[in-house]
Amino acid sequence: MLARVRSAALGIVLVLASCGASAPPSPPAPLPARTVRYTFALEPDLEHMHTTVCFEDGVPDALAAIHEEGRARVETAEVLRADGPHALPIDGEISLRGVAPGECVRYRVDLAPGRRATPGAPGSYRVGDDLVAPTSLWLRAPSPRDASTAMLARFVLPDGVRASTVWPDADEEGWMRIDERAFRYIAYVAFGELEVERVPVPGGCIDAVVLDGALQIDAEQRRAWLGTAGRAVSRVLGRFPAERAGVIVVPTPFADTPVLFGIVGRGALPTIALLVGENARPDALVPDWTAVHEFTHLASPFVERDEAWITEGLATYYQQVLRAREGMLTPEQAWNEMLHGFARGRSEGTGRTLREESRDMLRTYAFGRVYWSGAALALMADVAYRRSSDGQGSLDDAMVRASDRRDETLRADELVRAMDGGDGGPFAQVIAPWIDRDEFPDVDETLAWLGVRRGVAGVELLDAPGAAIRDAIMNPGAPLASNPDGCR
Ligand SMILES: [Zn+2]
Repeated sequence: MLARVRSAALGIVLVLASCGASAPPSPPAPLPARTVRYTFALEPDLEHMHTTVCFEDGVPDALAAIHEEGRARVETAEVLRADGPHALPIDGEISLRGVAPGECVRYRVDLAPGRRATPGAPGSYRVGDDLVAPTSLWLRAPSPRDASTAMLARFVLPDGVRASTVWPDADEEGWMRIDERAFRYIAYVAFGELEVERVPVPGGCIDAVVLDGALQIDAEQRRAWLGTAGRAVSRVLGRFPAERAGVIVVPTPFADTPVLFGIVGRGALPTIALLVGENARPDALVPDWTAVHEFTHLASPFVERDEAWITEGLATYYQQVLRAREGMLTPEQAWNEMLHGFARGRSEGTGRTLREESRDMLRTYAFGRVYWSGAALALMADVAYRRSSDGQGSLDDAMVRASDRRDETLRADELVRAMDGGDGGPFAQVIAPWIDRDEFPDVDETLAWLGVRRGVAGVELLDAPGAAIRDAIMNPGAPLASNPDGCR
């Protein structure tokens, strides 16, 4: 799942929206001329945040909500002067007219759960004593701003309370440097008596927190689960798609699967929330597909939800392939799950074309149709890349080609062009006949060529012209990036 700040997303138990990626950290550069400093101070009940914003040089016209749902959350805004606070007008935006360089303003935001002004917006959630409050509720962006504006942020939290990882590490004075991505995408943040568990993954670290609640799995089993999923996903780009990511584990009652739901936020760092069943056992959790699926989203650029078929298709295809590559499933199990998924995708839907089905998915709930149609196209594209290059290329290489744009928001056709390396490439040719048809993509011919057949007792892998490509798809591939410091 994913979405961007502007777009409404669907809401299930916890939240929704936004998918993330992160650029390699650059060495600290001198601060540009214009600097904005945010101090986010949380009240002990966790449900009100007082944000002080200081403008060291130029002052923008306003502080604007980064998402529709943040507009109505500001209760008061004032400029802080020697003779006391002076109220500022709030009209969706907080107007900064009359605020001088060097002055600070303060605004108070209501983070109480249960106030969903905008359909489909993430909202805030209590999980036991902890609170999940996405940045869409409390972060306001300088408007206008440009790339030369440095933005620094810090939290001032009640005793014993911590925030989950959302932005890069603080400098010696406690300031975290944030950038445009913090305003462009929603990130998920938890506040509470949290302990950060650092999980090494190839070329990066996952910072996980577990929210208030009872889980069967202990810390070591959580590390095994997230570390294995992180390693699996590293088999697309050769390394985990972000150097650092924040994961929020939400203990969830009444779950009939090990992981009930997952959601990815993008920002200055990716943030991922995973709803784990309180009774989930480690032997079921480790091979579960959800974390692999969500982490795979980080490997590609963001595409708006109206064209989710492409990013969901890639993540849904890879959730089988990567688990087989990592040994979490046998190749037979992976193909078996893929055939089940294609059957599900074929039987679901509303008779719309894939393009329309994807656009209307948040209203029709035709998720199975969209996700598995996209997965069928991803499989067909993987085979096309491999056939057209005599086995030298693959969908992984196409993901690598597009990966340097993964902090951007692209249209689906732009992503396909980036993956193909130009117009009319293998992926574009695979998609063209199916995107405006109301039938499920015909993947049977590809499966027959690969020698994948549904038998009486499950999938059968047969001798076939494409058997070598079939086996290469599930092959672990090249060695992964190392992680010398082990995330201590
Ligand atoms: Zn997804």
